[in-house]
Amino acid sequence: MSFECHEPSSVTDAVALGARFGEEGRFLAGGTDLIIQMRRGKVGPRHVMSLHRVSGLDRIEADGAVRLGALVTHRTIERCPAFQGPLQALVESAAVVGGHQIRNVATVGGNIVNASPAADVVPVLLALDATVTCLGPDGERTLTLDGFLTGPGQTARRPGELLTSVRFDQLPPGSATAFVKAGRRKAMEISVVCVAVRLTLDAAHARCQEARIALGAVAPTTLRARAAERALEGQPLTDEVLRRAGRLAAGECGPIDDVRASARYRRLLVETLVPRALRRSLERIGRAA
Ligand SMILES: Cc1cc2nc3c(=O)[nH]c(=O)nc-3n(C[C@H](O)[C@H](O)[C@H](O)COP(=O)(O)OP(=O)(O)OC[C@H]3O[C@@H](n4cnc5c(N)ncnc54)[C@H](O)[C@@H]3O)c2cc1C
Repeated sequence: MSFECHEPSSVTDAVALGARFGEEGRFLAGGTDLIIQMRRGKVGPRHVMSLHRVSGLDRIEADGAVRLGALVTHRTIERCPAFQGPLQALVESAAVVGGHQIRNVATVGGNIVNASPAADVVPVLLALDATVTCLGPDGERTLTLDGFLTGPGQTARRPGELLTSVRFDQLPPGSATAFVKAGRRKAMEISVVCVAVRLTLDAAHARCQEARIALGAVAPTTLRARAAERALEGQPLTDEVLRRAGRLAAGECGPIDDVRASARYRRLLVETLVPRALRRSLERIGRAA
């Protein structure tokens, strides 16, 4: 494996290098996906452009909308005071990415661009209706995260484009999020299934006003369970309504059999974990009221 390493010191320089090398270049953030893929021969970039010296992409801004720079690490998300309330699912997902060493260097931008269907932080961002911003020689583009993820390991990012940030709106009152992951063991294990939910209740807290359900590791990309979401909106969230959402979500996903679990087991997990995550969100809204 032979490649040339570049260390741009600004976003402008990184974008210029990205434009110069196109398909032959790869940005390196934490390297926890890229280096492994290079060692295994899955990718073989001729140019690796490290983002370590690029400043300004590691910040979280949380006034009004929330903006995470692409180089924000999972550890930073875990510790961010702004995410301890309704956005708690972000903390729950970041906290189960690998072990401490991984979380100290691995970034949210890498989790998104790597586009693994089993990525843990991506479902939460999808449940938050996040958008991503990419910067290339032709300027800035903002896309919905849903539209950005096009297949396993594939995104709508153009060759050489730098992902600069991910953004979502703060949640209205009466909202909460939850993230639940099933893995084969507690640490250093990618998800067999993961579920992220967001709920907003009406002013009387009697009915669901808006619901989002995102599922990981059960389709070629992280998936919104739209029929299950529709079955919740406008309804009082009784146990039966939550269980029905779980059944609908299980019907919407398309899992495969692999070394980690069978497709059938994954569907059963979705059916169980969706109502569990919804109940957790409801409890959180109740506690905050
Ligand atoms: C032991 C181990 C355990 C793991 N466990 C988990 C887990 O439990 N859950 C989970 O979700 N993941 C897990 N991962 C995967 C990995 O840690 C995450 O996906 C991480 O977020 C990747 O971020 P990174 O900064 O290391 O990305 P990198 O490896 O640096 O990059 C990944 C890809 O994104 C591209 N890229 C990175 N940043 C940018 C940018 N700003 N603009 C354009 N392209 C960019 C790179 O070119 C590369 O193609 C694990 C990995 C290891 C090694």
